[in-house]
Amino acid sequence: MAAVKVLQWGFGAMGSGMAKLVLEKKTLELCGVVDMREDYIGKDAGDILKREKTGAMIYNNFEEAVEKTSPDLVILATGSFTKEVYPDLERIINKKIDVITIAEEMAYPWAQEKELANKIDDLAKANDVTVLGTGINPGFVLDALVIMMTGVSHNIEYIEASRINDLSPFGPTVMRTQGVGTTPEEFAKGLENGDIVGHIGFPESIHMVANTLGIELDEVKQEREPIISNVYRETPYVKVEKGMVAGCRHIGYGIKDGNTVIKMIHPQQVLPELEDINTGDYITIKGTPEINLSIKPEIPGGIGTMGMAVNMIHLVKESGSGLKTMADLPIPRMIR
Ligand code: NAD
Repeated sequence: MAAVKVLQWGFGAMGSGMAKLVLEKKTLELCGVVDMREDYIGKDAGDILKREKTGAMIYNNFEEAVEKTSPDLVILATGSFTKEVYPDLERIINKKIDVITIAEEMAYPWAQEKELANKIDDLAKANDVTVLGTGINPGFVLDALVIMMTGVSHNIEYIEASRINDLSPFGPTVMRTQGVGTTPEEFAKGLENGDIVGHIGFPESIHMVANTLGIELDEVKQEREPIISNVYRETPYVKVEKGMVAGCRHIGYGIKDGNTVIKMIHPQQVLPELEDINTGDYITIKGTPEINLSIKPEIPGGIGTMGMAVNMIHLVKESGSGLKTMADLPIPRMIR
């Protein structure tokens, strides 16, 4: 069987890690990279990954990359929002190439962008390609994994899932959007003007779980509050004095008939261990039987995202056409 030729679009923290993983797999071939960074253009991917030449060149133009490399699949790792990645998805689909994206909202774009989601689905079907949104979260911990756990359930009364993680490995963009290093007043202002957003993906995860299980929600509500630090915390990108904000406690509620039937909790902060907080992923399903899953420490976000996106490649290649979710495809598994 010929290796699947993968074009990596977006060569940042996630994209470069995915490219490395693709290079390790015999059934995959990294045929090229697309990124807009001037200092990357025209180089071999290996030059940036600090390893031997790979033969995969970095292009700044997607169409040129396709012409030169004839990819079988694109991994798109450039942005978070459906509206933001839609124009590039359209370009990929129109070239009749399958695509996996880690844009958070694309894990279940019907949650907030129904019209665009239907448009992507129609376009994918017309061009006979598959489009999948995935990642660690959304894409796995707070949705696909929850859904899989219900495979043993007779009935379900309530679902609660939480992911307690450490933001320390992440850079300035994440610090800013989570409000890390702000004062409580600046945090409140940031929430109000939309500069601070907390986690991107609660409506997507909650609607994916609910719709897959046939739960008709009346609404999804979200709450965000600052995690105020009681100690000094410092990472390469941020300094947090005592009394300042170390992260964002973000909670999502799926509500039906006035009751919360799905609750998702995601407190994200830098260096939680400084206040004796251990990271972890937890799922509780109340019903018959009661199920409690506990993963300690958390599944690392970056490594997990790279793994999930790459490991879905063969399953996407084997899938029928259209816009798919993690609930539509077979159980994820590692590519050896
Ligand atoms: P990053 O900022 O490190 O990298 C993004 C790269 O894409 C940069 O190199 C940038 O130059 C390039 N880029 C951006 N727009 C481009 C365009 N239009 N054309 C060509 N290149 C472009 O970000 P990252 O940490 O690699 O994450 C990428 C995206 O994935 C982010 O939006 C992030 O929030 C999301 N993400 C999702 C999950 C998940 O679980 N679903 C997990 C991690 C990251």
